Amino acid sequence: MTLPNILTSTEAALFLDFDGTLVEIAEHPEAVVLRDATRRVLGVLSEKLDGALAIVTGREIAAIDRFLAPLRLPVAGVHGLARRDATGRLLPAPDTCEFVALAAERLQTLVDAEDGLMLERKTGSLALHYRARPELEGACLTAFESAVDGAPGIELKRGKMVLEAKPAGADKGTALVDFMSEHPFLGRTPVFAGDDVTDEDAFRQVNSLEGISIKVGKGPTLARYRASDTAEFLCWLEQSAQRLGVEGII
Ligand SMILES: [Mg+2]
Repeated sequence: MTLPNILTSTEAALFLDFDGTLVEIAEHPEAVVLRDATRRVLGVLSEKLDGALAIVTGREIAAIDRFLAPLRLPVAGVHGLARRDATGRLLPAPDTCEFVALAAERLQTLVDAEDGLMLERKTGSLALHYRARPELEGACLTAFESAVDGAPGIELKRGKMVLEAKPAGADKGTALVDFMSEHPFLGRTPVFAGDDVTDEDAFRQVNSLEGISIKVGKGPTLARYRASDTAEFLCWLEQSAQRLGVEGII
């Protein structure tokens, strides 16, 4: 599997994961770096696609806004739980404060006992990062499963060195379908790129819509195309922007 041809048509709707797709994954989620060139490329693509470019991420929408500023794009955050559409209307994540607080309390003992584990409370979900201590994966999984055990309607998602509990029913795939039902995405060919297992929901939807699904990096996937790593994907994105954009902008 290789990358598809660069985008030559302004009839595409582009959906992009953030971590591992637009930025290299870092030791800590706040330590990732979005290159100025990538920000410019996103700006050009958004303009040339008449606004049909959205970020579809596990992060909160506000975090994406911070990285992209001054650019402000439509975003699906917390794995599809929250969404800001192209008009700027915010569809917030369901209120799961009680569940998040309880599960966080149950996991605090493990996090306090081991250096390098990080608990991230989001609006709607709870994530346990173990990137700095990969050998603790088994212990983290056991503790996490027991912390969320019995919580109604909550599902456990596994990502790269992270476990996350969130309400079931919304995922990156449902967010993509919701965007596709609205202007300016409606009627376009969806293109989605992501690097992690949580992106598979979106790959499935894009495939069923006869769009272009791109897996970034290694691993089994439903995606029909692949970039070998983040750098190769960014190169593809930049070439697409150059092709669609006005020469000299990039
Ligand atoms: Mg990712």
